[in-house]
Amino acid sequence: RLPVVAVVGRPNVGKSTLVNRIIGRREAVVEDVPGVTRDRVSYPASWNGREFTLVDTGGWLPDSSGLAAAIAEQARLAVELADVVLFVVDATIGATDLDEAVVEILRRAKKPVVLAANKADDTRAELEAASLWSLGIGEPVPVSALHGRSSGDLLDKVLEAL
Ligand code: GDP
Ligand code: MG
Repeated sequence: RLPVVAVVGRPNVGKSTLVNRIIGRREAVVEDVPGVTRDRVSYPASWNGREFTLVDTGGWLPDSSGLAAAIAEQARLAVELADVVLFVVDATIGATDLDEAVVEILRRAKKPVVLAANKADDTRAELEAASLWSLGIGEPVPVSALHGRSSGDLLDKVLEAL
């Protein structure tokens, strides 16, 4: 079985956009409205000749008031199946309570985590991404899934963690 990289994080941080960027297709569903349900969440991917399975977890979320609980459940399922967790946070917003809740689950799971500080579209946002050190799960890797900025650096980190 190929190693599994699970992309987790609260809605709208850009998980599906990042998945599309990594697989090089526009296949994962990107929505401004969080909680899109769909069947397919696993994609074959590779970087520097290493193959892995990329799992976009966003589609498991209901668009409801039980968001915190749903995200917690999503994160739990994801870390169970993952060899490496790619945790995505919105660098332009910074750490929210929902992000912190995911961190708690990731900490307990003791799986390797790579922290993607997404939406770092420009140098200023890239610098602001450093504030995500406050999450206490390591170095935030600034990335722009939309523009492709630094996604190679991010994948290098993911493969190092595999
Ligand atoms: P998900 O709910 O975490 O899967 O987030 P999506 O991938 O559906 O993206 C949510 C919104 O954020 C969409 O409007 C995306 O176009 C936007 N987005 C994703 N990545 C970036 C990025 O790197 N920069 C900017 N500015 N917007 C982004
Ligand atoms: Mg999504």
